[in-house]
Parts: sequence; C-alpha cells; structure tokens
Amino acid sequence: MTLYQIRNFIDGKLQPGNGVAMTTLNPANNEVLASGFESTAGDVDAAVKAARKGLAVWKATPSAQRARVLFKAAQILRDRNDELALVETRDTGRAIQETEIVDVVSGVECLEYFAGVAGSITGEHIDLAGNFAYTRREPVGVCAAIGAWNYPIQIACWKAAPALACGNAVVYKPSEVTPLSAIAVAQALQEAGLPDGVYNVVQGARECGAALVEHPGVDKVSLTGSAQTGAKVASVAAGGMKAVTMELGGKSPMIVFEDADLDNAVSGAQMANFYSSGQICSNGTRVFVHESVKDAFLEKLVARSNTLVLGDPEKPETQVGPIVSKTQFDTIMSYIEIGKKEGATVVLGGEAVSENMPKGGYYVAPTVFADCTDDMTIVREEIFGPVMSVLTFKTEEEAIRRANDTEYGLAAGVFTRDLSRGHRVVAQLEAGTCWINTYNITPIEMPFGGVKKSGVGRENSRAAIDHYTRVKSVYVETGDVEAPY
Ligand code: NAD
Repeated sequence: MTLYQIRNFIDGKLQPGNGVAMTTLNPANNEVLASGFESTAGDVDAAVKAARKGLAVWKATPSAQRARVLFKAAQILRDRNDELALVETRDTGRAIQETEIVDVVSGVECLEYFAGVAGSITGEHIDLAGNFAYTRREPVGVCAAIGAWNYPIQIACWKAAPALACGNAVVYKPSEVTPLSAIAVAQALQEAGLPDGVYNVVQGARECGAALVEHPGVDKVSLTGSAQTGAKVASVAAGGMKAVTMELGGKSPMIVFEDADLDNAVSGAQMANFYSSGQICSNGTRVFVHESVKDAFLEKLVARSNTLVLGDPEKPETQVGPIVSKTQFDTIMSYIEIGKKEGATVVLGGEAVSENMPKGGYYVAPTVFADCTDDMTIVREEIFGPVMSVLTFKTEEEAIRRANDTEYGLAAGVFTRDLSRGHRVVAQLEAGTCWINTYNITPIEMPFGGVKKSGVGRENSRAAIDHYTRVKSVYVETGDVEAPY
C-alpha cells in the first residue's frame, strides 16, 4: 500500500512532476512507501524561474522579517516532530529512537540558529584616510541544493536555513531514495510566511540534479553526496563559474591512545560506526588502537556491541535499523566479503540478518573487523554501513601518518587523557572536523565540512554565511576626482 505521495513544490504549490513514475520502498520491509513522478527539465526550469522571482522579493525583505519566518517555520516543524520522525524512519530505515530526537531537532536548531544570525549579516567599513570603502554582503542568488538519503530533513534544513537567512532563493532536490520530508520543510516555511517561489522542491534522480546544476538561472550549488558525485557536480558548476559547497564522503580515523578512558573510547567507536546503521558521512571507520590496549578495547567493544538491538526501526527498542536500500545493502555485504577474503578477522557480526527481522528488509549485523591493515579495501574505501575496521599502532607519529593516509579528510577523532597530546595530534590531522574524547557531535554552532576529496566549503555556524553571500566592495570619494587629463 502506498502511504505517501512524492510531489514537487514549485512557486508555493504542491504539484506532481511531469516525468516518469517513481516509487520508494520502506527499507524495513521492502513495501512500496511512496509514489509519484520525477521532475522533467521543464519542471526544473519552472522551479528555477519561480526561484528567480522569489529571490527579487526575498532579498529585499528586511532581515528581521526573514528571521521571523525562519523562527516560525522552526516552531511548526518542532510541533510536528513525532509525525515527521516517523516519515524519516519509514523513508530511511533509521530507528525511531534516533529520528525522534535527532532529525527534526537538528534541522530546527539550524533554522533557529540562522534566524538568530540573520540580523547580524553585515559588511565592513574600511577607512581610507579621508575617503572610505565599505563592503556589502549580498545574497549569492538562486541556490541549487542537492541532498543525500541518510539525514533527509536535517540536510534540507542545513542548506535552506543559511541560504534563506542570507536572502537567497533555493531549489532543493532531495535524494530520490528519500523524497518525503523536503516537502514538510517547504510547507512549514510557507505556513510561516515565506513568499512563494523562495523555496522550491523538485524530485528525481541524477538527471534531475544534473538539469538543476546546469541551469543558467542557478548561481550556486550545494551538494551533500558521495565524492564521485561531488567531482562531477563541481566540474559542471565550474563550467558556469558557479560557487559550490560540497559535503562529501569520508573514511575518517579515530585514534585511541594507550592512556584513553577505554569505556569512552568504546562508546565513541560505537557511535562512529553503528549509529544510523553506520550511514553517516563523518563516521570513524578506521579505528586505530594502541597495541597495548587492543585486547582490552576489543573485549569491551564486542561485549557491549553484542547487545545492540537490530530490527524493525518503528519499534522503540530498536537501536539499529535496516540499510536504506537494496543497492546500499549489496554494497555493504560485498565489502564484508572482501574484508574476509583479504584476511581481516570478523570479531562481531559479519553477516546479513533475516531471522526475527521484518520480511524483505535489509538488515546487516553491526560488524567489527580486527587485524586490519592499511592496504585492505575495507580500510581504504568508504563503505557507508555498520562496518568498523580496527587497526593497531605503536607511536603517535605513526598513528598520525597512517590516519592521514587517505584521499578523504572529512573528520577525525582522538581519545587520550593527555590533553596536550590531544591538541597536538588534531593539529596534524588532515580533516575538516575533529573531536577530542568524543565522536560525531555536530552542534549547529560549529563549522562542519571536509578537506581533500571530502569537500569544499563549510555548513553550519557563521562560517556558512561566507558560502551563501558574496562581498561587494564600494569605494566612496569624498573629495574631487583627481584626473591627470
Ligand atoms: P550520491 O552521491 O549517490 O547522491 C547524492 C545526491 O546527488 C542525490 O540527490 C543524487 O540524486 C544526486 N546526484 C547524483 N548524481 C548527480 C549528478 N551527476 N548531478 C547532480 N546530482 C546528482 O550519494 P548518496 O548515496 O545519496 O549518499 C551517500 C554519500 O553521501 C556518502 O558518500 C556519504 O559520505 C555522503 N554524505 C556526506 C555528508 C556530508 O555532510 N559530508 C552527509 C551525508 C552523506
């Protein structure tokens, strides 16, 4: 039974796309969850045209009014937390005990944060000894935003909130795997008073995203997705000299020194690998443990992870839900097989689970590989599933060198009781976001983003303002024009 409809939101109106039919499945049981139609290039064009019209209105709207709209939309979404958490759980397969406390909440906090920031987006005054210059921070224009499937409403808000606070208009394309909650954001913004055309949603897969990125009416592209997609999207955007923010994949390291509080390190490693069934971009999937504490670490890790409750994500007791789709499930299972073949030792999980699970769902047991080496495929490539690789090291210098030996640079974590060492090590790690004695905490006040192939630009915090505004310089002459002619 189809529970939900997949629709576009263009110029303030919900409408079906004009393209081919699309459906999504509930990953918990493989039943059809939502159906509708993909957007055509014509739908994308209509959305961009609506956004250009909306932009003219919104950029002329005083910042206090922009802030009021964002605050009100935040409250509307907060009031719908439980209903939207259920939508996210059905769309992504992530456990309801996560979506009820994280997804809408983190999206709303972003709207509230940027509502608060809206009034303080200013240029600067530059004294030039008699004359002066000033800068204006102006909106970039129409922002194309494209999302991944793991945290749909959070990603939608992380892009919408800073863009709208700065006076931009947005055309958002959610992942074709999770198309539902973007519309809830659009409706909340509309109810809160956002003028028609300022926030639009188009539905579809790669072709729809590509049409959006290529559209000459788009001034900036913000993508959350894989490094491969990021490279393609950034190169197309470069053709039109469009600004980009790229939030891409990772293979992040988590280093556990011999003096670490091992219980905390185990909690960190679990959060860094099993939360959201491991489908988090910043996950610390390469866990480097000092050789002197490896056995103790693994013993605690396995004992505590053995009790994780895998199952139907709508049940409140479930801690680990299914994988989002068959494609992703197959990818993860093939990496697990490769890990076994290349000689890593399975100390936990290592298999798909169907017994006592809802029929048809894509369940993978939380998996820990020990005895991993740096050259193994599971240690080098992003898996995006509940698969942890544990490696050992002897010295601090070695841990840093091996942690940095990756083409990615999204995040990194260090567990140590020696705070000097903590700061010294993170200063040398090639990653956009680091944690000392915790993992995967991303408060809205802290910039988030990657280096190397993990992306460019930053989301969240005041840093995002730089990526949703452009600076105009204005020189003011207070005297006569000095002309040599
Ligand atoms: P994906 O790259 O397959 O797709 C991401 C989005 O891009 C989707 O909406 C897709 O339709 C669209 N797309 C694909 N090809 C396109 C093209 N040529 N032009 C325009 N749009 C195109 O990624 P995914 O499978 O949805 O998500 C998983 C990936 O996202 C992982 O690599 C993960 O690490 C990454 N991710 C990164 C962050 C972050 O903040 N850094 C957050 C979540 C996920």
